[in-house]
Amino acid sequence: MTDSVYSSYPPDLSAAQQEFLVTAVKDWAIQNGLAVRPSPAIVPPGTDSNGVLATNAPVTLFPSPFPRTCFQEATALQSIYNELYAAITCDTEWLGNIVEGLIEVDDFVANLWKVHLAVQKEGYVQNLSLGLFRSDYMAHVAPTGAPSLKQVEFNTISASFGGLSALVRELHNDLLTVPPGSSINYPSHPLLQSSTPPENTAVETLAAGLAEAHKAYGASKSTPALPLCVLFVVQKEERNVFDQHALSKQLKTFHKIPVFRVSSVDVLDQTSISGSNPSRPLLYQPPHSPDSTFEVTTVYLRAYYAPDEYKSSRDWEARTHLERSAAIKCPSVLNQLAGCKKVQQVLAEPTGPDHLSSFLKGADPSLVERVRETFAPQYDLSTNSRGRELALNPDTAMNHVLKPQREGGGNNIYKSEIPEFLRSIPESDWRGWVLMELINPAPSAQNVALRNDGEVLRGNVISELGVYGTILWDNSGKVLHNDQGGYLLRTKGKEVNEGGVAAGFSSLDSVLLF
Ligand code: ADP
Ligand code: MG
Ligand code: MG
Repeated sequence: MTDSVYSSYPPDLSAAQQEFLVTAVKDWAIQNGLAVRPSPAIVPPGTDSNGVLATNAPVTLFPSPFPRTCFQEATALQSIYNELYAAITCDTEWLGNIVEGLIEVDDFVANLWKVHLAVQKEGYVQNLSLGLFRSDYMAHVAPTGAPSLKQVEFNTISASFGGLSALVRELHNDLLTVPPGSSINYPSHPLLQSSTPPENTAVETLAAGLAEAHKAYGASKSTPALPLCVLFVVQKEERNVFDQHALSKQLKTFHKIPVFRVSSVDVLDQTSISGSNPSRPLLYQPPHSPDSTFEVTTVYLRAYYAPDEYKSSRDWEARTHLERSAAIKCPSVLNQLAGCKKVQQVLAEPTGPDHLSSFLKGADPSLVERVRETFAPQYDLSTNSRGRELALNPDTAMNHVLKPQREGGGNNIYKSEIPEFLRSIPESDWRGWVLMELINPAPSAQNVALRNDGEVLRGNVISELGVYGTILWDNSGKVLHNDQGGYLLRTKGKEVNEGGVAAGFSSLDSVLLF
C-alpha cells in the first residue's frame, strides 16, 4: 500500500454517513450478539436490577490495515508457540526455578505454586492438559526496512474475545460486501475496494480444542457411569458473557457436547469429588436440574486469573479442588504459571542458556529462530543489571514498559512513570517485575470507534493482533492435538499506553491486509 493510500485511510465521513454507519453497527451488534453486559458506568447500580440489558461491544467502524507479512508470520508461528508453552509447562523443575524467584515477592504466584505442590503431593490423577492460547503482537516499525512482528505477550489463561472478534470480522465483511457487488456502506476508498478481512475461525478452533479434550478424557470414571460434560468456570460479575456463549454454542450445536457454566464462587457448592473413588472424577450437579449429575471432562477457566478473584481461603480451596480432580484443566495451574511475564523475559534473554532451543529441540531450527525474532528486548531488574540501568534512567525508561506477573490489563507501568514507581516500592520487590522495550507499531492510521456507551471517537490508532492456538498434551510432553486459527485485532488511541478491551482501553477490530 502506498503511503498516500494509507494516510488517507479511512475515508472522511459526512455527518450523515457517520450516523448511518453508527446505526448500522449498533443494530448489527445486538442482532448478532456482538455485545457485552453494560458496565456500572453506563447503567448505574439499581437501574437494571434484573440484569436484562446488553450493549454493543466497543468496535471500530472500519477494519484497520495490518501488514500482510506480519499477519502471516503470526499465523505460521502459532503451532510452534503452542508446543513451546506445552513444553515449558511439562518442565516442572525449570518452571519451579522461575517461580522460586517470585514467591517471596508475589503472593499470587506463591499461592498458585502452593496449589501445584499440594496436588503433586497427593498425586495428579489427570496427565492431560489443554491450552487455549492467544499470542499477542504488534507490527514493529524500525527506522528502516519492512515492519516486523513483535510479541507483546503470550496468554495461557482465559484468552478471551475469540467469539466476538469472529463477529467483528463478519460485521466489517457485511459492510464491505452486502448488498452483493455494491460498496454503498462506506465512502469509496482504494483499500476498501481491494480487499476484505480474512476469515476468522476463532470459534471453530477454540471449540474444537475443547472438544478434543472432551474426547480424550475417555469414558466416565464413575460407577455407575455418568453422562459427560464440559464446564466453563466464569466470574460472577462477568460482562463479556456473549463471547463465552459463542464457544459454548459451538460446542453444544456442532460438537453435541453438554456445556455448563458455574461461577467460580459456586464451584465448591455445585461440584464434588467423591472421597471413595481414587480416580477423583469431578461431578457437577446443575442447580436447575438437581436430579441429574454430570461428570466433567474438561474445566475451561474464564476466571481465576487475577488475585482479586481469590477473596478468601475458600477460593483457593476451590481452585485446588478443581486441580486435584480428574477433569482436564484448561489451563492447569502449571500452565497458568508458564504464562508469567517472567517466563517470557527469561526466554528472550540474549545471553546465557538457550532455553528456547532446549524446549523446542525437536523442531525445525529455522522455525525456532523465527520465534526468537518475535521477542522484543526484555530485562530483569537485578543489581547492576542493564534492566535496572534502563529502568531508572528517565531518558531510557521512556522507551519501556514495566510489567508485573499479572493478566487482564491495567497492571503495567509505562515510560516516565517507571523510575518513580520503582523508587516507591522496596528494592527487594523489583524482581517481581520485568522491563520490556516498547514495540513501535506502524505510523498510525486513523479509525473511528463506537464505544459501548455509544460515544464515537475518531483519531490516530495503533493495533494489537492476537492469534489463537489450541494444544492438548500429556505430562510426558506428547502432543495429541495442536492447531491454530482465528485472530483478534484490538485497536486503541495512539496516546493510550494500556491495551485490553474488557479493561476499557481498546475496541474490537478486524484486519485489512496490505
Ligand atoms: P496483560 O497480560 O495485562 O494484557 P500485556 O503485556 O498485554 O499485559 O500489556 C497490556 C498492554 O500494554 C498491551 O495490550 C499493550 O497495549 C501494552 N504493551 C505491553 N507491552 C508492550 C510493548 N512491549 N510495547 C508496546 N505496548 C505494550
Ligand atoms: Mg495477558
Ligand atoms: Mg495483553
